[in-house]
Amino acid sequence: MTAEPQPTIVVVGMGPVGMIAALSLARRGLTVTVLEGGDDLATESRASTFHPPSLEILAELGVVDELIATGLKAPGFQYRGHSRELIAHLDMALLSEHTAYPFRIQNEQGTLTRIIRRHLEAMDNVTLRFGAPVERVEMGRDCAYVYLPGDKREPSYRADWLIAADGAGSAVRQSLGIAFEGVTYPERFLVASTTHDFLDDFDDLAYVSYVYDPDDWGVLLRTPNHWRVLFPIDEDEPDEVALSPERIEERLQGVIALDEPYPVAHSTIYRVHQRLAATFGLGRVLLAGDAAHINNPLGGMGMNSGIHDAHAAVEAVVYALEGGDPQRAVDTYARVRYDAAAVDVQKNTQKNYEEMRERDERERAGRKQEMAEIAADPERARAYLMGASMLSSFATSRRRMRRGLSPVNPKSSRPAGRVLSDQVRGTTLLVSAVGGGEGEAVYLPAERAAWSSDALAGVVDSVGAPLIVGVSDVAAGDAVAIAERAGVAAVEFSDGAREPAAVAADVATAHGARHDTLVIGTIAETEGRSVDDLVAAGRLYVDAGADFLGVRGIADPDILHAIHRALPEVPLAVSSSAAALPSIRQLTLAGVGLAFVPFPLKETP
Ligand SMILES: Cc1cc2nc3c(=O)[nH]c(=O)nc-3n(C[C@H](O)[C@H](O)[C@H](O)COP(=O)(O)OP(=O)(O)OC[C@H]3O[C@@H](n4cnc5c(N)ncnc54)[C@H](O)[C@@H]3O)c2cc1C
Repeated sequence: MTAEPQPTIVVVGMGPVGMIAALSLARRGLTVTVLEGGDDLATESRASTFHPPSLEILAELGVVDELIATGLKAPGFQYRGHSRELIAHLDMALLSEHTAYPFRIQNEQGTLTRIIRRHLEAMDNVTLRFGAPVERVEMGRDCAYVYLPGDKREPSYRADWLIAADGAGSAVRQSLGIAFEGVTYPERFLVASTTHDFLDDFDDLAYVSYVYDPDDWGVLLRTPNHWRVLFPIDEDEPDEVALSPERIEERLQGVIALDEPYPVAHSTIYRVHQRLAATFGLGRVLLAGDAAHINNPLGGMGMNSGIHDAHAAVEAVVYALEGGDPQRAVDTYARVRYDAAAVDVQKNTQKNYEEMRERDERERAGRKQEMAEIAADPERARAYLMGASMLSSFATSRRRMRRGLSPVNPKSSRPAGRVLSDQVRGTTLLVSAVGGGEGEAVYLPAERAAWSSDALAGVVDSVGAPLIVGVSDVAAGDAVAIAERAGVAAVEFSDGAREPAAVAADVATAHGARHDTLVIGTIAETEGRSVDDLVAAGRLYVDAGADFLGVRGIADPDILHAIHRALPEVPLAVSSSAAALPSIRQLTLAGVGLAFVPFPLKETP
């Protein structure tokens, strides 16, 4: 008997993200090769804050205790003002019902990679290759070819799956031609590490403090060996001046004046970007960590979201290796983690940046006041902390991954619903009205639908694309049975003229009766209906089992975003007038899977 051939899984990069992905794959018994361009693990001092969900992941991998033992436990963090006076202290113990780790761990990312390396070196199914810089990756049929220096025609590896965690300059991303879109901040950041202990200078100083100041905003944080201070550098200050011992001394004396000079252990300057890869998944390649997204460090989210990517990427790979649809695995990963990076990380870090350096005195005073009020109110503080600690983001991502990787019931002989849901994953499909255009899917509104299997099957055959049909004046169970027989991809129930509770009941009935046909529960904007109202109705439909949340009459991307953020479990299906629809990119970012474009209706064929 010959042994089953093992899939070839390659992880590129031995930063925290690649190492976590490798350990997670290896612990599931998979054979993994990890390629690192450098001759050893990086020692550079970079990320130093580990948030609760990252600690949960590290606990699943059996390495959290070592990270905690070598790090510092930060039970809260603070906001401070110009003179470093306390504005607000956020107590993470408020999260103890939500996580086993209601604190941050301050430790160096290089300590984590060393801990993981020891674990990997003890495993037979892992190969760690240093001095192996991937030059390029080419797409193959159901694989990725990995080229190292010296490879000519023949690649070094034919990977069934490849997780690219090769950092911001990712050779993998570049060789696949995936754009890295975004901005670079005008100012650079200076990080100075000192062995002076600021705990002696301030009452109750937390291990992490964010400082609001229009000119001298920044971060004061403790790592196991140093205090680290982050300052912005003016656009017109040359690097050599900003890095000169005199200038660093001057800036540290500005934090708190000492009689003697500050002992400075090291200092560095870096540029800050907010960038996102155009897609996080292509073929059999999943981009993770800085290879997929980079952001400013205010909030400590870059590495942490990379850790969450690694967790999701492994789920996607394992799903496919266990017989799941590989395309679904890639699309689900790409969409879920793109949204987490775009919505949770980039928006929050940009907001932190803008608030900390706010120049308008009234705005700044208002923000400080608000933070003080949030910190003083346990309910508001808990809600705030769920975001700042990335617990909400990770929970949403986990839920969406789980949902994305559990396909709709494929029992039907005409799995049109499945075809539609596969097409939607990761993109926004344009839906035209029957007879009205070349949509990637087609919509038949309720008032034009004849509810017999033959009539609907005729429409399905003639449109040649997944058909979505509006339902009214027919019982939900009957509608689904007829739709299934006809090969309709999705049925839509809307609350334009009915109470949300009645629509939710229809959605639940349809969801319970269907094998393949997808169910859309639609909230319609009517006069005086607030976003909260729309979200409340949407929650009913999502909980009733809707596969899409329809949104009728709203095209404002901010409102769509708000609805999607509140109900991230399902994609949106948006209909509005063509002129008002935002760009496809904005729609995709706002979680829109289906965009109905209203071409003039012609006769139903
Ligand atoms: C000063 C600073 C402070 C920060 N603080 C925080 C923080 O507190 N919290 C936080 O969450 N984030 C923080 N970040 C961001 C964080 O450091 C990064 O998000 C994190 O390092 C990303 O990890 P990664 O594994 O994706 O990439 P990297 O850490 O960059 O690792 C990439 C690895 O791939 C290797 N590699 C590169 N190219 C190739 C190739 N072609 N072939 C093979 N190997 C290759 C590299 O040598 C490296 O080992 C900070 C960043 C900076 C600069």
